[in-house]
Amino acid sequence: MSRYRTANTTSLTRDLNRAAIFRTIAIAGPIARARIAEQLGLSPATVTAVTRELLNQGLIRVAERVPAKIGRPSLLLELVGSAAGALGVKIAPDHLVGVRVNLEADAVQRYEVPFDSAGSDAIATLTEILADWIAQGDAAPPLLGIGLGVAGVFDSRSGTLDSPLLGWRDVKLGQIVQERLGLPAFVDNDVNTLAVAERLYGRGHDVDNFITVTIGRGVGLGIVANGDIYRGFGGGAGEFGHTFAVENGDRCSCGKRGCLETVVADPGLISRARERGLLNDRQGIDELRALAEGGDLQARQIYHAAGEQLGRAVADLVNVLGPELVLVSGEGTQAWPYLADAFTSSFAANVFPPLDQALIEIDPWVDAKWAIGAATLVLRATFAAPLDSDRSASVRARLEAVVPAAGVVA
Ligand SMILES: [Zn+2]
Repeated sequence: MSRYRTANTTSLTRDLNRAAIFRTIAIAGPIARARIAEQLGLSPATVTAVTRELLNQGLIRVAERVPAKIGRPSLLLELVGSAAGALGVKIAPDHLVGVRVNLEADAVQRYEVPFDSAGSDAIATLTEILADWIAQGDAAPPLLGIGLGVAGVFDSRSGTLDSPLLGWRDVKLGQIVQERLGLPAFVDNDVNTLAVAERLYGRGHDVDNFITVTIGRGVGLGIVANGDIYRGFGGGAGEFGHTFAVENGDRCSCGKRGCLETVVADPGLISRARERGLLNDRQGIDELRALAEGGDLQARQIYHAAGEQLGRAVADLVNVLGPELVLVSGEGTQAWPYLADAFTSSFAANVFPPLDQALIEIDPWVDAKWAIGAATLVLRATFAAPLDSDRSASVRARLEAVVPAAGVVA
């Protein structure tokens, strides 16, 4: 049953206005009240009442006073980023990366520990590690929730996660973490978390249609269509790595043959290099990249072939989705200098000519970015309107409880 069923229209309207105004200040601040009223089509009186409440709660502050042509100076309002925080975690098969971020998604603390996702007690270990990270931040601003980014398919309707990479099947990860740690927990596919972070705080901020392609251990895709993540039926959209690339190609982790991932992702690159005797069994992707850096022609050739397949496949994506922007991200971009030429010419040869203005940008690799993306799952709930979900509501309730009522300005 909806918890809003009995809410009267007035209080619902007030909640919606509050969320919209808070979001506008967070995204467009420093901003004057008059501009907020204009952007949202609200009355100046409503904006004044809500911003006074937010100021009292310490969630926003006056950034500066700008002289007005007539009358009192107008106040520019901005978010108080340090008022609260969120924990974001990227779960990899062999390690966990965590970040504590403030409301502006700036990382204020970073964690990394080894982790064995295939261990029999992996999820219990995960919650112990998270509890430890939470305890370490005792003096920090309160946490609004935890975001978890995981390679795999997360079905938000059933709350279940399927991750072949981690060896987890039908795991209700969010529910387990939430119950053990007593904080709202959000789970999503890790590439979706990256795309959400770009949408809220990054390159996708002013771009309603863009895609994030990731390369590295696998090949991933996050699709932002008309301003929001496109998830597909059951949350499975974006399995770009398992599209067809090579006839009778290598066996993929998914069981099929010749998937794009077998040509472009690290395991495929490494096995090709081993077949040619470039790497021994103990060497991996770092050594292959070092060979390419040193000018080894065979190593360069392996990357060239990968760049060619990726360029063709991304051209097909652009042909289907028509994005304005393509962000290429992930640890595999460290080898971009050896992928770039083949990618560019193959993309140009395969894209439908009217769509060739799609901008392609390579995102410099930052390890913590995935975890920051996961944390934005929580922050997004902060700025979302009520009605979204009970978990978002509980994030907002925590946010409202955070706050010392000090420094009243208005
Ligand atoms: Zn596959």
